Amino acid sequence: MNKTLYLTTPIYYINGSPHLGHAYTSIIADVIARAHRLFGKDVFFLTGTDEHGQKIVEAAQKSGSPLAHFIDARAQEFKEMNTLLNISNSNFIRTSSDLHKKVVTEIITSIYSNGDIYAGTYRGLYCVGCEAYYSKDDLIDGNRCPTHQQEVRELEEDTYFFKLGKYQDKLLEYYEKNPNFILPQTRFSEIYNRVKAGLDDLSITRTSFDWGVRFPFDHKHVLYVWVDALCNYISGLDGIKTSTFARFWPPDVQIIGKDISWFHTVIWPALLLSAGISLPKQVLIHGWWTVEGDKMSKTLGNVIDPFEMSREYGSDVFRFYLMYNAHMGSDSNFSLAELKQQNNAVLANNIGNLVSRVVTLLNQYCNGTIPMITEFDPEEKKFIEIIKDNKKYVDEISSYTIRNALFDVIEKFAELNKYITDRKPWDDFKHSNKSRGEKTLAMICESIRFLSLQLDPFIPIKAQEIRKSLGTMNINLDFDFKYSAGSKVLAEKRILFAKLE
Ligand SMILES: [Zn+2]
Repeated sequence: MNKTLYLTTPIYYINGSPHLGHAYTSIIADVIARAHRLFGKDVFFLTGTDEHGQKIVEAAQKSGSPLAHFIDARAQEFKEMNTLLNISNSNFIRTSSDLHKKVVTEIITSIYSNGDIYAGTYRGLYCVGCEAYYSKDDLIDGNRCPTHQQEVRELEEDTYFFKLGKYQDKLLEYYEKNPNFILPQTRFSEIYNRVKAGLDDLSITRTSFDWGVRFPFDHKHVLYVWVDALCNYISGLDGIKTSTFARFWPPDVQIIGKDISWFHTVIWPALLLSAGISLPKQVLIHGWWTVEGDKMSKTLGNVIDPFEMSREYGSDVFRFYLMYNAHMGSDSNFSLAELKQQNNAVLANNIGNLVSRVVTLLNQYCNGTIPMITEFDPEEKKFIEIIKDNKKYVDEISSYTIRNALFDVIEKFAELNKYITDRKPWDDFKHSNKSRGEKTLAMICESIRFLSLQLDPFIPIKAQEIRKSLGTMNINLDFDFKYSAGSKVLAEKRILFAKLE
């Protein structure tokens, strides 16, 4: 079994403040990172900010603050988002850092030495918003960017090209040998067919602005911001000839939004092939969020602010809602009414009520202590086996279908609720059948402890509070009564998940 896991989010472009989309990607990555740490893996989780390019210069000018201040303040906002959402990243890479610039220069030098860069002239339709050239076919009405809706500009400039076309066959071969390289599968065929149709060489330098990494072989040029940005996945490990790189490269999974899949599944692997660096194992592509049925946009004024959400509802409720509704392969819709409804039904009723019910019963009938039980009858053993079986959960996490993993845990909590309702331990205590009542509570308590660990990646704060309520902080991943028996539960009732109106 692979003992390390290297996963990345894209570095976020700091022309705007963090929004729902950034929070979503980071939370997906965080769930995967936390789950694998729980499974005992040595995890490196990279995120950061993309700070070069014309659009950043324009955004800084618009804001009225000097460029250096602007980028520091924006990068800080993204770090604060991570703190607020409990994102457990191992490193935060900024492309304006000296280390990053040095690593980019090294990689470009390898590619150049390999004969894959040549001088030429480029004329094309460029979207400043995307920092990308478009072919007419990809544009709305032949002149507007499909992402930004705004008109593209016609640019003509001296440039250096990367021989992307040279790597067509090697890319196709890599896709064929690694059918899980691009997830979900629907995205795989889309990319595969486009590459098969042919690849133009890629213009990788600009002369129209200078906020970027200098092209080392012609100082009039700076590197195309995407080529610069993609190298963060290496500079984030301190560069190529480092122990961190040796330990973690290549990435096990790179998590991205669907709008940047071409860069990550075609351009990035081609650059790596040219530089003689091994390729990432998987790229996990997620869809976008609409808000109450509409596309999220500044103009519509419906941008979901992760800071506001976390302050208003708590970061765990926000995390839970996004993961519970994350249709990885397609778009998802954000609805505040649904967030409240799901908080109430799933977190408060299904999980919170069960915990407080058990705590109350233990205080009432067992001196607040979880009983130690060793003997179970066949029916009870059968129930324990159902709860203990976490294979599906582990498989779902390992194949990055994390929403299904969350569903699986929630379903187990529903089983516990049904079990306690059917067994009626309160009746046993009232009718001098104490040992049966104790058995029920012991089974439920160890089940809750065990399942709370599976909730950890999704709702890290609340999962810990669940264990605190039961007085057992044991985080052993096995199901065993010795991990909860004898624990003193909280003496007073505590509301784990407040109902939302
Ligand atoms: Zn655009």
